[in-house]
Amino acid sequence: MLTIHADAWFDGSELHHRPVTVLVDGAVITAVHDGRVAVPLSETLHVGFLSPGLVESHAHLFLDGHEQDTAKRQAYMEAGRDAFLATGRKNLERLRASGITLVRDCGDKWGINHALRAEAVGTALPVVRSAGVALRRKGRYGSFMAEEVTDAATAAAAVRTRTGSDDVKIVLTGIIDFAAAAVKGGPQFNLDELNAIAAAAKQLGKPTVAHCSGREGIDLAVQAGIGSIEHGFFLDAGLLDRMAERGTAWTPTWIPVAWVRDNPASCGVGADGVAGLGRILDQHRANLQEAHRRGTIILAGSDAGSLGVRHGDGLHDDLAAYADAGLPIAAVLTAATSAPRRALGLAGGRIACGEPADLACFTASPVTGLSHLRRAVATVIGGQVWRADGMTARTAA
Ligand SMILES: [Zn+2]
Repeated sequence: MLTIHADAWFDGSELHHRPVTVLVDGAVITAVHDGRVAVPLSETLHVGFLSPGLVESHAHLFLDGHEQDTAKRQAYMEAGRDAFLATGRKNLERLRASGITLVRDCGDKWGINHALRAEAVGTALPVVRSAGVALRRKGRYGSFMAEEVTDAATAAAAVRTRTGSDDVKIVLTGIIDFAAAAVKGGPQFNLDELNAIAAAAKQLGKPTVAHCSGREGIDLAVQAGIGSIEHGFFLDAGLLDRMAERGTAWTPTWIPVAWVRDNPASCGVGADGVAGLGRILDQHRANLQEAHRRGTIILAGSDAGSLGVRHGDGLHDDLAAYADAGLPIAAVLTAATSAPRRALGLAGGRIACGEPADLACFTASPVTGLSHLRRAVATVIGGQVWRADGMTARTAA
């Protein structure tokens, strides 16, 4: 049995500025009491702020976002399975220290994400939701994460092999030309091909996730009923309306693009590129406001592992950008707790009696600064308690 006393809390949709007592038995929340209720014979945590465990909805666990030297990053791609696994394990610890209890890995061609998912089961490490290997058009962008397919038949056949994946990841568009403030090239798949992919995924019972920016690609993704649009640069009001109607989620991954704007020399970006990046981010910021206004589902995700995006800190940088764009704190927290779990059909993301014990404890409320959420004092994952003070992780039951 574990008792958590918090001065303030977030229940998954609303903030509460008063004390709460939450009881955990095994992997389940067994009671939520107003105020401070003493529970004898129970391990007790006293914390400033309690939230459902945070969700990082877009990461690549095998990549080290701490490495900012582009030549070293390139060389690392040859480092091999053991090195990738070691990086992934370190990243899971970083995520946990940042209050993250679930991470959605959006693809690596070696399947390190699947291996880490298996290792994390039953431990106090974050739960890994793994796409395994993504799909891309032969010769197009996405070599580090995706298998090449050539047409609707080979794409659907590849999807049918993804029985071990939690999500089917599709690389639908290319990368962004910063100076031109536009996506490079057209979408990798046409509507028939994308429909074939979506239908095969539906047959397998797997949600679909698309790397997708630019109006043309996003329009196709919405038409094909893709579950979530990753990155989604160059969205517009019409597309956001259609996404809200269809329940298509959006993962904004603000920080990898903002990092390049702020560190142009590190990636050889000139003055034209910096100006273009400014325009791209202004539009992205406006789209965040519009998405919130229209009720488009926002899933907080940072593309951690990308250049300049550290696992753990990346999510918090993205959350800060959403707040800066004008989203209320409760909406920012919803995007990082209940929204992704609901979108993915997972239990949790809420603090209520009978809900999974999946929790993050912090020193103080984000109302006095979102930065209070950057370092967790404890996390509870499937009944396993981890404490930042170095106390050994132990089962709550
Ligand atoms: Zn990604």
